[in-house]
Amino acid sequence: MIRNFIISAIFLGAALSAGAQNTSRETNNANRQRRGMRGYQVTILNNTKGQLDTARLRAAFNAVYPDFARADGYRTVREATMEVSDKFNGTISAKAGEIVINSKWLKKNDKNLEKALMHQFSKNWFSADTIKKDGYQLVFISKAPEFDPVVKQNLIDTYFKVYPTLVNTFNPKSTREVLFVVDTAYKAVAEASGNRILFSYNYMKRNPTDIDVVTHETMHIVQGYGYGSGPGWLTEGIADYVRYKYGVDNIGSKWALPEFNEKQSYTNAYRVTARFFEWLEQKVKPGLIATLDDQLRKHTYKESSWKELTGKTVDELWQDYAKAPELKLTYSGK
Ligand SMILES: [Zn+2]
Repeated sequence: MIRNFIISAIFLGAALSAGAQNTSRETNNANRQRRGMRGYQVTILNNTKGQLDTARLRAAFNAVYPDFARADGYRTVREATMEVSDKFNGTISAKAGEIVINSKWLKKNDKNLEKALMHQFSKNWFSADTIKKDGYQLVFISKAPEFDPVVKQNLIDTYFKVYPTLVNTFNPKSTREVLFVVDTAYKAVAEASGNRILFSYNYMKRNPTDIDVVTHETMHIVQGYGYGSGPGWLTEGIADYVRYKYGVDNIGSKWALPEFNEKQSYTNAYRVTARFFEWLEQKVKPGLIATLDDQLRKHTYKESSWKELTGKTVDELWQDYAKAPELKLTYSGK
């Protein structure tokens, strides 16, 4: 039964990736360069005595591998080898970057090659569910057999509650089809890439109340700025500002914007920048952050945007903030 879900999920994955947008990744260093989607390549190795139909093998690879790789997430290997061998003991084995096929099996099962590849690739997926609601879809893949069902449900509920609001508020052209992957091998907290969000199983296990990771990460999908549109601190500051404003349970996760201190800078990104943005919204110009977000998406953002929109440079605004950083903050809770 799970197998059927998985196969249908990967086909949905194909539809998902077709609608995938620009890439945005979560990193510890907000200024780190972003990476884009590259193509997937296969090298076919012939370890048989006869000829191989390489066009057929390449077609099977192209039909299955890219969608698997995008869904599977963690450090996807984009260059793969597909070896057909007279000596391989099994029938077919497939993992990221490495496919081995027994030549006799291939002769008999040529028509089932795609299905067999999908089966092999999704072996470490414990579950895959597709949930649809009000025009929005979520495919939820878990590679962890013991992922807490309550946390899973909270992540799903947060997606359906927050994501449509973010799409409507910031970018109505954003995709309606999102993929969540919970991975045991992934060591950071979470990251967004295209329309997929990768969650660390270990982090969520230790921090089960931190469900507004969904809010921050789905904002990255909505942002979809692409390459070179603005500095990383701005992207991450906006995502955390959005978490503050639209998150569902920041009280429950004890997530808060840090008080101002003199050591801070607006380029610190994340919560420090998010508090500055909330101050700008309250004291300088309501709607400023949505305007900057729009400019970043249209690639019209410039450093002079601050002056054009507020009459002051970002450094002047920060100096004003540093002089009077007091702010009334209201946090969401369940
Ligand atoms: Zn982020």
